[in-house]
Amino acid sequence: MHIIYAEGMRLLRSTDLALRVLMRLAVTGGSSPTTREVAAAMDVPYTHAAKVVAELQHMGLLDARRGRGGGLALTEAGRTASVGAIVRAFEGEGDVVDCEGATPCPLHTGCRLRGALRRAQEAFFAALDPVTVEDVVAAPTGPLLLGISRKP
Ligand code: SF4
Repeated sequence: MHIIYAEGMRLLRSTDLALRVLMRLAVTGGSSPTTREVAAAMDVPYTHAAKVVAELQHMGLLDARRGRGGGLALTEAGRTASVGAIVRAFEGEGDVVDCEGATPCPLHTGCRLRGALRRAQEAFFAALDPVTVEDVVAAPTGPLLLGISRKP
């Protein structure tokens, strides 16, 4: 048995970063920060941010323009995207407990706990489904994000 979420529904770092990038872009106020600027504002390695930005671009949630005057911009789909859908996409929908890993659990063919954990996991995602990126940058979060980004 291998417990995937050892401390409850803890998100992967990439999931949290994806949400933070989208939130940051939702409050740019007309400017288009670069991936490097967003990475600095989020205090994460550039390579990590670049990987997440590429995935978000692939999902159609942001546009990345290269060269002078380029930068990142949220798409309309990104602005109205469901936080639950983003979390599902980055986390995957695997079970919270790996019942059939290298050492399968002896109960895996008929375990009621497994079903209960699946329902709890779905409830976690479902609670985030109606929340949009736009929703989570309402004050005080949006102004705070802008303040962090403007620090030297
Ligand atoms: S089958 Fe049941 S008891 Fe075994 S690891 Fe899965 S959830 Fe836990």
